[in-house]
Amino acid sequence: MRPHFNSICAKETKDPRSTAPHILPIYATSSFAFENIGEGIDIFSQKKKGHVYSRYANPTVDAAANKLAALETAGTDLKAAALMFGSGQAAVTTLMMAMLQSGDKILTQGNLYGGTTELFAKVFQPLGIQSIMCDLHDLGKVEGLLKKDPKIKMLYFETPANPTLACVDIKALAKLAKQYGRLTGIDNTFATPCLQQPIALGVDFVVHSTTKYLNGHGNSIAGAVVTPHTELTGMSGRLWQTMKLAGTNCSPWEAWLLHNGMKTLALRMERHCSNAAHIAHFLEKNNKVERVNYCGLPSHPDFAIAKKQMRGFGGMLSFELKGGLEAGIRFMNAIQFCTLAPTLGDVDTLILHPASMSHLNVPKEVRLRNGITDGLIRMSVGIEQVEDIVFDLERALEKVSGE
Ligand code: PLP
Repeated sequence: MRPHFNSICAKETKDPRSTAPHILPIYATSSFAFENIGEGIDIFSQKKKGHVYSRYANPTVDAAANKLAALETAGTDLKAAALMFGSGQAAVTTLMMAMLQSGDKILTQGNLYGGTTELFAKVFQPLGIQSIMCDLHDLGKVEGLLKKDPKIKMLYFETPANPTLACVDIKALAKLAKQYGRLTGIDNTFATPCLQQPIALGVDFVVHSTTKYLNGHGNSIAGAVVTPHTELTGMSGRLWQTMKLAGTNCSPWEAWLLHNGMKTLALRMERHCSNAAHIAHFLEKNNKVERVNYCGLPSHPDFAIAKKQMRGFGGMLSFELKGGLEAGIRFMNAIQFCTLAPTLGDVDTLILHPASMSHLNVPKEVRLRNGITDGLIRMSVGIEQVEDIVFDLERALEKVSGE
C-alpha cells in the first residue's frame, strides 16, 4: 500500500527509538495502542497488565507515584503505593470521596491549610460530610470525640501546619484512631518524606501538595496520596476507581516535572532546614519581631513533638512584627530580594500574608483561634546564600520603624 499525502500527515509514527532513554520520557499520549483485539480485551479485563488510557494510568505518572511511595517508606520494611492527582486539593478531594460517604464525619484541626478548611466547609459539608474541629494536641478530647461519635470515620491532620508550624503527635493520633477503628490522613506537604514518614508511624493516608517541596521549582501543580493499603490503589481499589471516574488524575507533564524535582529533594531539604533555622534565630533576636513560629526553635510550643517525629524542621516559618498588620505591610513592601508569592517550597525565598492570601476565606474567628493573626507573615525560606536573605530582612526591618 502506498499511503496518500493526507494519510502520511495524519498517521502516528511508530516509536523510532532503538535504545532505551536514560531519562524518563514524558508519555504525552491520551491512549495506548493494542497489538490486537485479544490484547485489548485482556488488558481491559485485567488479565494482562498494560496501559489503556491516561486518565486511568500513564507511565510517566506511575514513575513519579512509585518514586514518592518509595520515599515515604525508605529505610523501612513497609510497602506503600501512591496515586497522583491534578493538585493537592484534588488529592484530598479524591481521598475523601473514596473513603467517606454522606453522614460520615471528619475530625480535624482548625489550623489546616486554608484551602482544605474551605474544601471541607464548602464542598463536603453540603454533601453531608461534616468536619469537626478540635485541638488535636488534646489526646483526651480526641479520644472522647472518637468514643462518643461513631460517625467520625476519618481523623485528618496537618503537621507541621500551614502557617503556624503547629505540630501534633502523629504516632499517638494514629494509635488512637486505630484503637477505635477509624482511618487517619495526614497532609505531609511541609515536611516531605525526607523529614517525616507518617506511614511508619501508623497513618493510613499521606497526602501531598507535590506542587511545593517535592517538585521544588514552582513549575507544576500536582498532588498525591500514599497509602500502605495498596489494594486501594489497584484497578479494583476504591481510591483508583474514584480518581479514574472523577477524573482527578495528574497529567504526564506535571508528573515529569515532579519526578525531575524529587531527584534533588534530599539536598534541597538539607539547605532549606539550615537556612530556615538561621533565619528563625535571626528573627527571634530582632527587637522589631514580636514572635517567631518555627518548630525547630526551642521556644515553639510544639518543639518537643517536632523533635520526636521529624528528622529536620523544614524550611517554613512565620512571624509577627511588633506593630501588627501595619508594620507587616511596611515590611513586605520593603522586601527586595525575597519574592511575595502565594506558594511555598520553591528553591527561592517566598513571603506571603496568610490573612489576606492563603487563609482569606477561613472564618476570622477560626483563624484567630489558631494563631493566624492579621499581622502574621509566612516565609518559605529558600536555598540561596543565607546572608542574602538576612540582608534583605535586615533592611526591610529597619524600614518598619522608619515612619
Ligand atoms: N496542603 C498544603 C499544606 C498547602 O499549603 C496547599 C497549598 O498551598 C495544599 C495542600 C493544596 O495544594 P495545591 O495547591 O497543590 O492544590
